[in-house]
Amino acid sequence: FVVLGASGDLAKKKIIPTLWWLYRDDLLPDHIHIIGYARSKMSVADIRAKAFPYMKVKDSEKAKLDSFFAAMSYVQGSYSEEDGFKKLDTAIKAFHNGNKANRLFYLALPPTVFAEVTQNIHDHCFEHEGWNRIIIEKPFGRDFDSSAKLSNHLSRLFDESQLYRIDHYLGKEMVQNLMVLRFANRLFGPVWNRDNISSVLITFKEPFGTTGRGGYFDKFGIIRDVMQNHLFQVLCLTAMEKPASNNADDIRDEKVKVLKCIRPLKLDDLVLGQYVADPEGTGDAKEGYLDDPTVPKGSVTPTFAVGKFNICNERWDGVPFILKCGKALNERKAEVRVQFRDVPGDIFSNGVVKRNELVMRVQPNEAVYCKMMTKSPGMNVEPVETEMDLSYNLRYKDVKMPDAYERLILDVFTGSQLNFVRSDELSEAWRIFTPVLHQIENEKVNPIPYKYGTRGPEEADVFIKAAGFHYSSTYKWVNPNL
Ligand code: NAP
Ligand code: NAP
Repeated sequence: FVVLGASGDLAKKKIIPTLWWLYRDDLLPDHIHIIGYARSKMSVADIRAKAFPYMKVKDSEKAKLDSFFAAMSYVQGSYSEEDGFKKLDTAIKAFHNGNKANRLFYLALPPTVFAEVTQNIHDHCFEHEGWNRIIIEKPFGRDFDSSAKLSNHLSRLFDESQLYRIDHYLGKEMVQNLMVLRFANRLFGPVWNRDNISSVLITFKEPFGTTGRGGYFDKFGIIRDVMQNHLFQVLCLTAMEKPASNNADDIRDEKVKVLKCIRPLKLDDLVLGQYVADPEGTGDAKEGYLDDPTVPKGSVTPTFAVGKFNICNERWDGVPFILKCGKALNERKAEVRVQFRDVPGDIFSNGVVKRNELVMRVQPNEAVYCKMMTKSPGMNVEPVETEMDLSYNLRYKDVKMPDAYERLILDVFTGSQLNFVRSDELSEAWRIFTPVLHQIENEKVNPIPYKYGTRGPEEADVFIKAAGFHYSSTYKWVNPNL
């Protein structure tokens, strides 16, 4: 397992800790060797020291941790020249049976070096007897053309079956549960269509801003960072037809079909926002996006976006899929909210019966709940709002929920591509977003300011209401945990 960019942020925060958790739980192959590769002069002890604060090691696990790092080595080399990669190849071959070891390369690197690194891996580090797999992190380009260029480059070097493009949303429990909820319940299958569903709202909210990483964020913006990839993956799993099997390509074929039914997004179908300081707030809330010193002055990059999509097929035509994402909002949350149509022929007092909603909360505290009407308990025969609730922390008390990266890295070892993005999914998603992204940049479309810590601009609520999502404000939840 080669981590290229072992000196970096992703390596210390995610990759090394995830490999440790898999190793600790005996989920890695017996003869695993981990090699860090980067230009920096460093040692395994340095990698250990950087990653340790993120590894959640218990005192009783110290001996196992030592054996984990004993299986690690470090090779220093450049990304552009072949010498480092030849050294890497020699280091792998030096292990017992190293000349036929399976090889997995994780590119924890900035995209500017993807092309030369993959070329060098292909030319100097590929194994002919065992398998070779490459894991790549987003961004997979920043528009249709740059993504196509990267895909063409990769497809000249590797077979699609060797490529694992990570979208960590696909490793989340509730995202993986979407297929089971939809295709293993007769309760939902027959109503999952335009006849019964009025809108689908997919939300991602973060309660913090760019926290000093605005320079990176500003080149992408929230649409590229969250909507075009994470939220679109969730949209596909929510909308796709039942696949022929749960084999990776059958599922990815269905996801691509959904994307092919979506026309390119127009500016009129978007609300864009950018957070500003809350003068009464505390800590980071006192800083707006433009106050981040790493953000270019006067930047119009959106930190909040709502987009409306129509899936023009027999099942969904006319049902708005509303995708909402933003930074510096009032809470941390990701969820899918399926809102059903009004009950026709209301026999109760006018307006009391509210629409059903099926909510699948991805984070925090995984839950599936269905907002529904029931008779108010007691003498009255009045309908009142309530819910059927599957809260994971109540139903599955002692279950350890693996981190998304744990599932995904394990999938790569087992050769399952189900939860990885195929190149045609990627190009279809870019087809939908590229024209409007270019328009926003060329015309410098001004985002609407919203205050740090709020639910976003009020215009977004107006837009969502006009799109067809009804917010009743009458639903009150009684938390059974309290
Ligand atoms: P990073 O820390 O900026 O870079 C990783 C390593 O790459 C650095 O330690 C450095 O190693 C080398 N490097 C940095 N800039 C370079 C340059 N201009 N030219 C050549 N080498 C350079 O990146 P990261 O945050 O770990 O992210 C790696 C990849 O994962 C990126 O594609 C990023 O978009 C993606 N990603 C990161 C996160 C995260 O939480 N950090 C989350 C999602 C996706 P040496 O100088 O030692 O060679
Ligand atoms: P809700 O309060 O009726 O909110 C539903 C939707 O309306 C959300 O998408 C929300 O958007 C939007 N909304 C909120 N205020 C609005 C406004 N002023 N104008 C327009 N739209 C607005 O129902 P809920 O969120 O499903 O449930 C309420 C609370 O109960 C939540 O905190 C929920 O987590 C909790 N609950 C928990 C469980 C469980 O843990 N098992 C089960 C049921 C309910 P935003 O997302 O942007 O706020």
